Amino acid sequence: METERNHVIVVGGGPAGLVAAALLARAGVPTTLIAGPAPKDTRTTALMQGSLRILTRLGLWPRLAPQTGALKKLRIVDATDRLIHAPEVLFDAAELGFTSFGHNIENSVLVTALRETAEALPALTIRNEMVASVRSDDDRAIVSLQSGEKIAGALIVGADGRNSICRRAAGISAKTRDYPQAALTLNVRHTRPHHDVSTEFHTTGGPLTLVPLPGNRSSVVLVDTPATVERLSELDDAAVGRELQQRTHGILGNITPDSPRGKRPLSSLVANRFAARRIALVGEAAHVLPPIGAQGLNLGVRDAAAIADFVVVASDRHGDIGGSDLIGAYDRARSADVRPRSAFVDVLNRSLMSEFLPAQIGRAAGLCALGAIPPLRRAIMRQGIAARADV
Ligand SMILES: Cc1cc2nc3c(=O)[nH]c(=O)nc-3n(C[C@H](O)[C@H](O)[C@H](O)COP(=O)(O)OP(=O)(O)OC[C@H]3O[C@@H](n4cnc5c(N)ncnc54)[C@H](O)[C@@H]3O)c2cc1C
Repeated sequence: METERNHVIVVGGGPAGLVAAALLARAGVPTTLIAGPAPKDTRTTALMQGSLRILTRLGLWPRLAPQTGALKKLRIVDATDRLIHAPEVLFDAAELGFTSFGHNIENSVLVTALRETAEALPALTIRNEMVASVRSDDDRAIVSLQSGEKIAGALIVGADGRNSICRRAAGISAKTRDYPQAALTLNVRHTRPHHDVSTEFHTTGGPLTLVPLPGNRSSVVLVDTPATVERLSELDDAAVGRELQQRTHGILGNITPDSPRGKRPLSSLVANRFAARRIALVGEAAHVLPPIGAQGLNLGVRDAAAIADFVVVASDRHGDIGGSDLIGAYDRARSADVRPRSAFVDVLNRSLMSEFLPAQIGRAAGLCALGAIPPLRRAIMRQGIAARADV
């Protein structure tokens, strides 16, 4: 087993791993992607402008665009029945000079397109197998496949999801939190147009978000208590449509479910470092956020772009692409992006559930200020879409 000094191994063929592998291979870095079988994913993802630029870099965006729903406006509606009530806040991408904040895409469409792009790259080898174990030292990083074969490289990109074995092999611990909530996901058809507006209803159980898809279709992410999500997941289509129509105040007219329903408990995870010992973490291996403000995969795409950029720069300088300088620089860069956002999403989610009056006043005052102070609103919008995806 020979170690090529510029060889990168990406573990995990979800969206974050595919973006990392494709960006690396497209820049000519010899890359092996080890992709275990992907679970069926009926969810959609709102990809913001920064992520769309990266898909454009991969030559993918023009092909994907017609299959996506534009998010021209984002509306937050306080649907809590509390004494302290926030006004409705509307964010308009035009205020920043953009035609949209981003686009909503079905995960299966995104992953298929990324996979086809990756398969066409000569510098990329794809192995459809599971990694059984990972180890690394000062000189190299090695993965052992379930077939027993070993592959060595200068760097491992751990894109193997929330239960990452790469994270464990790097000796990186993570801070986790379980919320007393679960998320129900499904796509729906509706009789009224969405006008390219995504609406987030803030309820005491959690947010209920409608995100536009092409035509009179939207994706729904409903966060509530596990018992409510369980009940909704078992209702027939007509009953769940009626309940969604009532919970969304009828803004989309009659609602009809149009996809299987998914449900999962809500939790968060943030790694205490984003890289160590020749292993860099990307996507949910590094961070899992509650589905508020569409941050999760957008962060994952930026992780992928960041590690690819650091590797290409180090490689051009004939430096060590898995050495401590690169590992430290990647960790610092991703910490600055991921930690404040995950803290913000956590506080926002918990302030919704909180019966603590000052927390409710704080949340309502924050939303009031966003509605009334345009420079503050624009600053938050810029942060939300993270249009500059470069490192
Ligand atoms: C309800 C909900 C709504 C969301 N909405 C949004 C949104 O609107 N916008 C947004 O940006 N984000 C959103 N997210 C977050 C987004 O879905 C995730 O960030 C994203 O799917 C994670 O991608 P990933 O590639 O990091 O991980 P995964 O998709 O989990 O991929 C990991 C891959 O690694 C493979 N793997 C694991 N172990 C091994 C191994 N040992 N060997 C080989 N392969 C392995 C697995 O098979 C899998 O394919 C949402 C999340 C939820 C729960």
